[in-house]
Order: sequence, then C-alpha cells, then structure tokens
Amino acid sequence: MAKVIWEEAVKPLLKKYKNKKHPIYYSNIYQLIVVVVLSARATDKYINQLSPKFFKSLPDFESLSNSSPELLYPLIKGVPGFNKKAVWLIEIAKQLKKKKEIPLSIKELSSLPGIGRKSANVIRREAGEKPEGVIVDLHVLRVAPRLGIAEGDDPKKIEDQLMQALPQKDWDAGMAMSFLGREICRPTNPDCPECVMNGVCKYYNKGK
Ligand code: SF4
Repeated sequence: MAKVIWEEAVKPLLKKYKNKKHPIYYSNIYQLIVVVVLSARATDKYINQLSPKFFKSLPDFESLSNSSPELLYPLIKGVPGFNKKAVWLIEIAKQLKKKKEIPLSIKELSSLPGIGRKSANVIRREAGEKPEGVIVDLHVLRVAPRLGIAEGDDPKKIEDQLMQALPQKDWDAGMAMSFLGREICRPTNPDCPECVMNGVCKYYNKGK
C-alpha cells in the first residue's frame, strides 16, 4: 500500500465520531471524575447502572470527602479494584473540594490517585478542553495497530505515535478509534466491509 497521509485518512472517522459523547453518564465535573475513576477495568454499562445511587448518596466532592471507604463499598462493590478506588475517590475529593476551579491539565489530573494519562485525556475531552494528548484505551490499542497508524502494545508509545501522525486539531481521533473499536472493529470478526477506514486499513488491505 502507498504511504498513508493520516491527517487526510482520519477525516471520515472524525466525521463519524467527533464530539460524540462518551458512553458513561455524568452531569457535572464531579460526576465525570468519579465515573472515570470507577470505569477503569469496568464496563461503562456497569458504571452507568450503579452511578445514580452513588450520586444520590454522595452528590459532591464535599460529601465524598467526608465519607469513608466502608461507606463506599456497598455502593461500588462489584467494580474491579473497588476497595482501592474507594480510597482514591475520597482522597481526590479531599484534594479537589478546596479548589475554586478543578485543575484540568494532564499533569495536574494525573497527579491525583487513580487517574492515569488515559483517564486524564478522557476527563479533558468530556470537559470540553483542548486535547493535550490522545486517548488510548483498550480499543485504541487494538484498532490503531490494525489501521497501521501505530505499532506495538504500549499505550504511551501508541499515544506518542498518534500525536506524531496527526495534528493536534485531530487528536480526538483517539476517542473516535475507541468508538470504532466498540462498534465495528471488534476483537474478533471486525466488520471491515462496513468500516469507514477500510480504504487505508493495513489489516484489511494486507495482501491486496
Ligand atoms: S477495516 Fe476492519 S480491521 Fe480495519 S479498522 Fe476497520 S474494522 Fe478494523
């Protein structure tokens, strides 16, 4: 295949998914941070099921900061790593309740317990901030190498390659690849004939 100009090639993908809201439910920055922390290694569907009860009991950083891991356990039991996440959420609430504005740089967000680079990128995106990086979740780890825009299986290295291949204005392509991975580029039997990226995809076009 000829060399792919990725800025051009991702246009149909961005057209399809740019600005599409993340599938986890939240209605303010407090809820967003909580659900992003809870959703690591959990399904969005499961977090959406438990979050209404959680937010009814603990509606803001203040109430969460005054809670205890033992009080949180029944609300998040079943979430992978729930005991650690309870401790992290309370610590995050203690740190953020004092702030007039929630710090939203990747550096500041990822200094909070339980928030890594991927989560920080997700929080920034959903908060409407300009991207400082590219979201690389489990779907992107699969889709990006299939497409041929990146290689390897290290999230940070994949993110670096995506940031090099695309201008900053197109860094929402990470979340777009995640949506593609959820809907079409599934781990087994990807629906390539229906995929907007099949014209440039290395996996689909190998041997052609
Ligand atoms: S063409 Fe197929 S393998 Fe390539 S990104 Fe689309 S669904 Fe995935």
